[in-house]
Amino acid sequence: MEKIASIEIVKDLLLEYGLTAKKSFGQNFLIDFSTVEKIMAVLNPQKDEQIMEIGPGLGALTQALLEQDSKVVAIELDRDLVKVLTDKLKPQYKKLTIISSDFLKTDWENYQPAKIVGNLPYYITTPIITEILKKSSGTKTLLFTIQWEVAQKLTARPASKNYGFLSAALQCFGEPKIIAKLPPNYFWPQPKVESAIVLIEERNPQLNLETKAKLFRVLQLAFSKRRKTLQNNLAPLLGQGQSSSIDLKRRAESLNYQEFLTLAEELTKK
Ligand code: SAM
Repeated sequence: MEKIASIEIVKDLLLEYGLTAKKSFGQNFLIDFSTVEKIMAVLNPQKDEQIMEIGPGLGALTQALLEQDSKVVAIELDRDLVKVLTDKLKPQYKKLTIISSDFLKTDWENYQPAKIVGNLPYYITTPIITEILKKSSGTKTLLFTIQWEVAQKLTARPASKNYGFLSAALQCFGEPKIIAKLPPNYFWPQPKVESAIVLIEERNPQLNLETKAKLFRVLQLAFSKRRKTLQNNLAPLLGQGQSSSIDLKRRAESLNYQEFLTLAEELTKK
């Protein structure tokens, strides 16, 4: 089959199946093949490596992953697109598993993917990233295409205007790097905003699930009221007589990821 990431093939496939891009599912299909190549160069998929793709759409990235002989688990919400993928890619690639489901309602963690990739549906970027950070275990690399504005949040430094819960949570997992900025005309239909490819490599040592659970409890409380100090926001934990080496008169937005990890350890001891 020809490369799916092109305006001609995307339009042909939609026409063949009598479909239009669904705004409500955040469908903007990648039509720039050089971007697919860039994503593959950074992700570096290996033969038989377990790779999970969120929102494969018409298969622009899926096809490229399968061409590298990786094992791909692709989770797609839209049943119409699942049919296209099943017809067009499944017969040719035996290492493709298609799951017809909402990613947020799937027990995806059972697949223990080594890498997770996706041109994410922009309306649920934050819930998807949060879900992955909470539940992933053994996943070393995340590579997402997201709105440029959200990429600014993910990579924001403590005390800067964009720094918040999502930045801190992600930076505990790994160091996010913006690989490229993508203009709207790389997608069809064109989104209203620019996009970014963001790579996140997990830090060593990896956080175990117990530490992650503690960390999320602390982060959620710490950022619950932006103007308040840690002392106020973390009161439910401090009430249990816990103390910390971090100055609790500070606000959450001033703490870096290492300080959050310290807080999580100190405040959630049994
Ligand atoms: N990966 C394709 C590409 O690059 O051309 C499509 C990207 S499009 C921005 C987002 C895709 O995510 C769409 O195919 C959409 O149907 C799918 N999607 C939306 N919400 C989803 C969800 N909750 N779970 C899984 N897939 C979802």
